[in-house]
Amino acid sequence: MKKFLLLLFILASITVIGQSNNGDKTFDRFKERFMDAYWKQYPSYSILVGYGKYYDELAIPDAAYFNTCISFSKAWLDTLANISPERLGANNKISYNILQNQLKTDIWEIEVFKIHEWDPSRYNLGSETYTLLTEPFAPLDDRLKILSEHLQFADAFYKAAFKTLLHPTREHTQLSIEQNEGALGLFDVMLPDSIKVSGLDAVSKETLQLRIKSASIAIKDYIEALKKINADNNYSFRSYRIGEKLFNQKFQNDIVTDFTAKEIFRKANEVKTYCHREMYQLANKLWSKYCGSLPKPPDSLLLVKTLIDTISVHHVSPANFFDTLNRQVQDLKNFVIVKDLFDFDTFSTIIVRKMPAFSGGISTASANTPLPYQKLSVPYYNVADLTVLSPARAENRLREYNNYILEILSIHEAVPGHCMQGIYNNKSTDIIKAVFRNGAMAEGWAVYCQQMMLENGWGNNSPELWLMFYKWSLRECCNVILDFGIHCLDYSKEKVTTLLKYEAFQQDDEVEKKYFRATVSQVQLCSYFTGATDIFALREAYKIQTGSKYNLKEFHEKFLSYGTAPVKFIRQLMLR
Ligand code: ZN
Ligand code: ZN
Repeated sequence: MKKFLLLLFILASITVIGQSNNGDKTFDRFKERFMDAYWKQYPSYSILVGYGKYYDELAIPDAAYFNTCISFSKAWLDTLANISPERLGANNKISYNILQNQLKTDIWEIEVFKIHEWDPSRYNLGSETYTLLTEPFAPLDDRLKILSEHLQFADAFYKAAFKTLLHPTREHTQLSIEQNEGALGLFDVMLPDSIKVSGLDAVSKETLQLRIKSASIAIKDYIEALKKINADNNYSFRSYRIGEKLFNQKFQNDIVTDFTAKEIFRKANEVKTYCHREMYQLANKLWSKYCGSLPKPPDSLLLVKTLIDTISVHHVSPANFFDTLNRQVQDLKNFVIVKDLFDFDTFSTIIVRKMPAFSGGISTASANTPLPYQKLSVPYYNVADLTVLSPARAENRLREYNNYILEILSIHEAVPGHCMQGIYNNKSTDIIKAVFRNGAMAEGWAVYCQQMMLENGWGNNSPELWLMFYKWSLRECCNVILDFGIHCLDYSKEKVTTLLKYEAFQQDDEVEKKYFRATVSQVQLCSYFTGATDIFALREAYKIQTGSKYNLKEFHEKFLSYGTAPVKFIRQLMLR
């Protein structure tokens, strides 16, 4: 009897495993079919992930196209509904959830959020053109030929884009003007320069030149049309505040977490208070070193501010900004190996480069992660050129990005933050988790690294660095507070300015930029704090699960092996 039961059990297990394998095999084939169809539907995105097949196509953003996007998503959701996730292995179950969420979000953006109608900055051929021009997926001549095919539709693209717009916001209109002006540099200078050094034959050259010229004219016309709207005093702009209902929906779509937006807002306020307390203690300790016998201000925030202002004069010059960040990347690479935090190949290339103009206007530094389909693709650490700013603005910016903050910035953007995570992302075997990058996982990871590196001795526990670390953490808390505040609680610009200046100790220039950014984005500013909160919670749970076998490097290696999936899903895999 016992033997019989055991046999039954074995048979049952074989069936389950067999089904699972079978289900997984079918699903792997499904993924391949699906992804190919997806990139055909969204050829511009396919360039940004390095899927080469549809580079020569360009979707024209008219009403008919957006309708095909909706029917595309609905059809694939139906197909997904016919696959039972119970028959899939844990890894594919998560990919299944990611796909379902992506398709639902794609529908929601068009049908409910309608962002294609009110955000003119969505229409910009700059970043895909730049990617085709700079990514080494093929020799320059071939890339220029592909670009020539892609750009032949530029005129139709911009004309349709303008027709699609329906009461855009003033802020997105302004942003679009700036970013498209940035893109013009590509068409008017960078591309003609590339053609000169290419080996294209005369006919191809001429065709390409005509197409570039036509694209450049189309962009200029689009900019002019937007400027006309901006100058029209009677134009009824849409408000940039999206309201709590849409905000909550977008929060769930984009972040994928068990927290609600309101819970995260509450948590961010708590952490803000915690940071203030820690900073006050550090500032008290450092007071005599920097301020001598100067009497301490009675107000604790003022005391912290005075000290931060004093320490912030230690900064590089605009001309040295680039070289400093370049050197830091090397130091950080060495550190993570010496401290045994990662199995990271320090010879992996990370290129530090000047910020491409079309993406400028918003940040001081940023990262571009490698294209998931291009195994030779490398990450870029983009650095703004501060020498073009007026001396006063540059000084302001550099006090914000003083010597200590710069170290935290490089941890965040480069190593072990975005650039390094991007390298791990490209090693992930499941393309779904690599291409549908969850923003909260990526930003949460970079934020997690800031604290993890300091805890492991980066900066030798210097109280100055910790003080600046808390200042930087305040930025993440305040990102949540102002994002939720502006969109859901009607925060005024004055209220946000007071918050950032007096409670987060930010410089005027930074405050101005942050406010503008908050008006042209929604939820994205919550991704840093929310993602990091989820990662720290996961690390705690993992510590308990592994007990005496807990090892930080192992946690990192495991966590990063799942691509850029939502932390909530990675948690399901790591805590089995
Ligand atoms: Zn200075
Ligand atoms: Zn980041």
